[in-house]
Amino acid sequence: MSVDLGGTNFRVCSVHLNGDSTFNLTYNKVAIPRELMLAKTSKELFGFLAKQIELFLKEHHEEHFEAHQRRRKSAKPGEDYETEDIFQLGFTFSFPVQQLGINKGNLIRWTKGFDIPDAIGKDVCALLQQEIDLLHLPVKVAALVNDTVGTLMARSYAAPGKTSTLIGAIFGTGTNGAYVEKITNLQKPVDGQYDKSTGEMVINSEWGSFDNQLNVLPNTPYDKKLDEDSVNPGIQIFEKRVSGMFLGEITRLAVLDLYEKPSLSLFKDVSSSTNNGKAATRVGEGSGLFQQWGLDSSLMSIAAADTTPELSTLRKELESQLQIRSATVEEARAFKDISYAVGRRSARLSAVALGSIVMQSGRLKETKGEPVDIGADGSLVEHYPSFRDMIYEAFNKIDGIGAEGTERIRIGIAKDGSGVGAALIALVAANMEKRGTLDELAALKNKATQKLAGAIPSVGESTTLV
Ligand code: ADP
Ligand code: MG
Repeated sequence: MSVDLGGTNFRVCSVHLNGDSTFNLTYNKVAIPRELMLAKTSKELFGFLAKQIELFLKEHHEEHFEAHQRRRKSAKPGEDYETEDIFQLGFTFSFPVQQLGINKGNLIRWTKGFDIPDAIGKDVCALLQQEIDLLHLPVKVAALVNDTVGTLMARSYAAPGKTSTLIGAIFGTGTNGAYVEKITNLQKPVDGQYDKSTGEMVINSEWGSFDNQLNVLPNTPYDKKLDEDSVNPGIQIFEKRVSGMFLGEITRLAVLDLYEKPSLSLFKDVSSSTNNGKAATRVGEGSGLFQQWGLDSSLMSIAAADTTPELSTLRKELESQLQIRSATVEEARAFKDISYAVGRRSARLSAVALGSIVMQSGRLKETKGEPVDIGADGSLVEHYPSFRDMIYEAFNKIDGIGAEGTERIRIGIAKDGSGVGAALIALVAANMEKRGTLDELAALKNKATQKLAGAIPSVGESTTLV
């Protein structure tokens, strides 16, 4: 099983792997109520998540759920009924954490509009497990997964051919990427025990907070205003120019600025203003144009998709979503152009993040001819028309990638990747736990080896320690 706390939605799913790169997925999706994003205590949010898991089990795994409840009620005190048929749950938690173990990680900071101070520094797996246990659900939080890592896993499972996937990237409410790095390139010390035998490790880049100092990123008056009015000014500066939560808001601020300019006639009734001396507005008072977060990025996708000469779909949506009445073709085109500029900037910046990792990996040079595979998930990359094409276009212009490199980079949509990947990781974690004693032995052996290695200062690479 897995749950995915994205930023906009919460998904609960169970996954059946068919073993041939296909899978069957059952899932429920609910919007996260806005008040829970700013809840007084973390218990309110995590209690809600556990409740959703209960509803999912009752709806899709009723027999299993009921059987567990019966066993629990008839169990004698001290009897271990818990170990039977427990769902191993992968918890996709897409906020920055300090991960301390496969199912343990402390929240570093909230992003994407969340702000629940008492959760900072706490182990989010424990917070969820507590609420699950209060409801007596047959569920164990087995793995903590970032959505980017889940996407990387899911794409690795589902990608065509033998090429191993390099990057898992998210372009949804927020943006971030995880990639496979050579252990020899790691510069940050890594605590704890981990398997070094592959020579590789997955790194969660948290690129959403790249260049918070604004040394190189573009910064328009609209970007500035968006940041100042956000719950976390000065943080997630890259994300605030790229992801779904913010693109609509940048577009809104730009359109509003033009609307408010007396010299321009965007969405204003020019003829009636000359008639009675007052600028009669055609925008309803309660329009989202006047409210923070009032313009959803999905409207930008509608604008980009409408290629009819009259822009009739867009004009209809401007009316129904933003109360902008009887917009002219020219006005709708102005909206479309502004929206496109914001969308294309986002895709170009996305290409910089992806392209730099592709170059860092050395795969364009090392593995000749093979594709460099990227898995991507999130509503923006999935639904914004030509988002991937705009990324490829930008790759072309990057020194070190160029046309030849671009040809080889393949971005595949890993739909619901973060959920599927988390379930995959939960499965691996459960298997590791089953082999627990073996692992302990291996760990002991590892420790002994390290001690020995430490005791012999000039130990050569080829030395075998038994
Ligand atoms: P999550 O981040 O919770 O996993 P999604 O990947 O669905 O969820 O991303 C939700 C974000 O994507 C929201 O910010 C929303 O505004 C944006 N979005 C939803 N639909 C579209 C669309 N058709 N085009 C562009 N952006 C969209
Ligand atoms: Mg997501």
